[in-house]
Amino acid sequence: MNAGIAMAVAMAIAVVWPGLPSPKAAAIPTGSCTDHPAHAQLLLQAGRKLGIAVRQGSPELAGKDASYRALHGRPGVITIKPRPMAPAVRCQLITHEFIHVLQHFGARLRGVEPLGWPLSPGERSRFGSLQEAEAYAYQNQPALVWQLLEAHRLDPTRPK
Ligand SMILES: [Zn+2]
Repeated sequence: MNAGIAMAVAMAIAVVWPGLPSPKAAAIPTGSCTDHPAHAQLLLQAGRKLGIAVRQGSPELAGKDASYRALHGRPGVITIKPRPMAPAVRCQLITHEFIHVLQHFGARLRGVEPLGWPLSPGERSRFGSLQEAEAYAYQNQPALVWQLLEAHRLDPTRPK
């Protein structure tokens, strides 16, 4: 990370966290990857503070553009394929993998369990597992995922 990016991230955090530890609701980021693809940067920053490594490379799942390896007992590794993609798509990929991070933290790093988020019957049946259904159903909600990652950082004992 260069100093310019660090400064920009610090400023972004200052803007969204004006009153730690209880930020004003209005200051919490809102919006989707479609509207605010730069929210992906907030997720990467929050993940770094939680010990999540993010690297470019070949995802472990064939045919996927990204993967999360959940390590046993410690934060895992997100791998993103280095290929050109629209900012909104990249934001959704990152949000998707960070939902798996939340599933891992929710299981206290001992597995990857569903978060229990609301899903339609179609979403439940379409993706093979509840974990994937949640990740696909909410991958356009980076602000929601960011808030939950920050909640883990501020209170690591929080179950979900
Ligand atoms: Zn997934």
